[in-house]
Amino acid sequence: MLELVDSWNGLYERSLPENLAKIDQVPGVVLGFHATIDGLKAVRPDELARILAEDDALRQEVLESLGQVPLEINSPADLVIGLLDSMQKGKALQLMIRSEETFNWTMDKFGYDRLRIGGTSGNMANYLAPLGFAKILVYANPLTKEQAELFIDKPNLFVLVEEDGKFVLKPPRKAYEGEGVYAVHWIFEYPTDLKVKIPGLELTTPRANRYIAAWNPINNRLQVREDFKRGLLDRAADFSHFVISGFHILSENYPDGSTYRECLLPVADYLGQLKEAAPHLKQHYEFASIASPKIRQGIVDLILPHVDSLGLNEVELCALLRNIGRASLAEDIEAQDTIQAVLAGLVALMEHTKLNRIHLHDLGYYLCLQQKGFVPPKQTRAGLLLAATLAAARSLTGRIDDKADIKEGLGVDLSPRGLSRLQALAAHLEADQGFLTEGIASYGPYDLVFIPTKIVPKPVLTVGLGDIISSSAFIIGTME
Ligand code: ADP
Repeated sequence: MLELVDSWNGLYERSLPENLAKIDQVPGVVLGFHATIDGLKAVRPDELARILAEDDALRQEVLESLGQVPLEINSPADLVIGLLDSMQKGKALQLMIRSEETFNWTMDKFGYDRLRIGGTSGNMANYLAPLGFAKILVYANPLTKEQAELFIDKPNLFVLVEEDGKFVLKPPRKAYEGEGVYAVHWIFEYPTDLKVKIPGLELTTPRANRYIAAWNPINNRLQVREDFKRGLLDRAADFSHFVISGFHILSENYPDGSTYRECLLPVADYLGQLKEAAPHLKQHYEFASIASPKIRQGIVDLILPHVDSLGLNEVELCALLRNIGRASLAEDIEAQDTIQAVLAGLVALMEHTKLNRIHLHDLGYYLCLQQKGFVPPKQTRAGLLLAATLAAARSLTGRIDDKADIKEGLGVDLSPRGLSRLQALAAHLEADQGFLTEGIASYGPYDLVFIPTKIVPKPVLTVGLGDIISSSAFIIGTME
């Protein structure tokens, strides 16, 4: 085991300088379609009690329906019921706000403590820009002053603007239109043992967690701006990679009778056009947890056929397996928790989707399957190693201000879980000794790349780690 540890630590160290240099060679990265504003709000029992004491009708409604969590928030009572339910159970909960009146009510009654960048694309923009890529283009709509100022202030971070019939790249702070907070993803955070006492209800939170209530009427329908669509087609030659995400805030049904499909179809159509106009642009879809099986199916059917690559975690893999009619493979992963079960699941998903590449990240290891000939597996591994070093550095220090900070991750220990999965996989594949130290094997029509990762025992920050891992592994791992 010790030899294996030394060998992988050596590989991490040897590959870092070359991988850091690769960052400078990436022509440009596009991030769409999910940049938002998070409104952080610590739950204050006295404030909650006051809001409910002020409004008898609201309190009655909340007490009567407590425990019946709505699917979406259509009234102040729905918002408070969701909050109290999450707090009572200590369980994370995320609901979309559907009425503007409720958005205004929440802003008026609760407000927020502070704003921060949110959304997969917003987070990726702020994590990737400091690494020094030549160009990061992020899609943000609406781009108000408040949203623009939440983006990190770096000279390589841009939005796309149409000026005098030309499409130009501009820093968000020089391109915003108007002021205001028109979309907020409230993150109501509560600690363990927080006590709420109102007439008719007493609760103590069993554990710290959060309740997300999001108002995002434009992005909830994924109406990608026409000028952005045309602009990216026009400027696609400037970019090499497109990381797509954000479909998790769609709804199954909208008040006007339309559904998620009407939202997905134009995006799918656009991705197809882009692929045709700019075949060099490698496209990755970053999966997020999507509770609705219908929306997941929509993504499998409409979006995945247009992209090269998919990034997900083990929970998301199980959800997708259920969608493609392979529930028993998902049950195996959940019940057995073995690398064999995970591999069988990935293979089934590859066969169904015919993607070029699927990258799974789990605690302690990453496993990537790709079609032979897509990119050299050593390059894939380089991407995975960089992503793991970056994730370790960020978990350890909480921030990455410059690509030189990535090397902090080298000092973090390899995960015993990852190393034992490597050994189990080697045995399962009946691979030769080389696989244990290289992590590369041929597997039917696929190249398989596995790396044990470095895990920080007491991380300072874990928010958005999956996004950093998938995006950096994809970008560096698919560089020619
Ligand atoms: P999120 O939605 O918060 O991004 P994900 O499950 O998508 O969560 O990604 C989390 C990933 O981060 C895990 O799969 C694991 O690979 C990595 N990770 C988690 N904790 C640590 C840690 N302490 N140190 C390094 N990597 C970690």
